[in-house]
Amino acid sequence: MQMNIKRNIEMVRAEIGTEGCQLIVVSKTQPVERVQEAYDAGQRLFGENKVQELTSKQEVLPSDIQWHLIGHLQSNKVKYIAPFVALIHSVDSEKLMAEIDKQGRKIDRVIPCLLQIHIATEETKFGFDRQELMQLIQGEKKYPNVKVQGLMGMASFTSSQDQVRQEFSSLRKLFEEIRDKNLTDYTMKELSMGMSSDYRLAIEEGSTLVRIGTAIFGERNYQNP
Ligand SMILES: *Cc1c(COP(=O)(O)O)cnc(C)c1O
Repeated sequence: MQMNIKRNIEMVRAEIGTEGCQLIVVSKTQPVERVQEAYDAGQRLFGENKVQELTSKQEVLPSDIQWHLIGHLQSNKVKYIAPFVALIHSVDSEKLMAEIDKQGRKIDRVIPCLLQIHIATEETKFGFDRQELMQLIQGEKKYPNVKVQGLMGMASFTSSQDQVRQEFSSLRKLFEEIRDKNLTDYTMKELSMGMSSDYRLAIEEGSTLVRIGTAIFGERNYQNP
């Protein structure tokens, strides 16, 4: 099926609405021509899950794109994206946070981040659980070159809409709980949840950033790029 990227972006945008939620187009595995097509349709926020792919696209695509890192990040790769990344959604350990802080300090940049929270039932998904999160925010250590702006989560891979809704709802409650503490080092502005299969539910449950690939570009071909 030939995907009309521009039309798909317009459809998704219409569903998201104009209030409080932004679209991040997930361009992983898509060749630069297709990312450019989305750019030409007015899209400026893009998400990638691999550092290598993110940096090589950033080098050749327009400089006013805001690049979001949404996948698991290894500490030794932070330095490659530290100078330009708009938001790291996938901070899943304090060790990683410390490394982002270190790399930020080297280049005198405060790096916007989200803490990834484990909300799914699958073992494989990365992220803090509730207890680890509470330990982190109550901790003594400071990371002045990291700016935590909210939370990110991925729901279980399941056909149960009820379960997905519950997982998003639990993340929103955690987000509100921390927001209400008014911590200077952990501001809660962004709640990143929702992908192609579940973004409508995520928006109903309070998402401020949806990360959508397949609904824009069609099924991914992992041979690319
Ligand atoms: C790939 C990916 C998405 C987008 O998934 P689609 O189902 O293609 O919309 C969103 N978030 C993360 C973390 C991803 O890795």
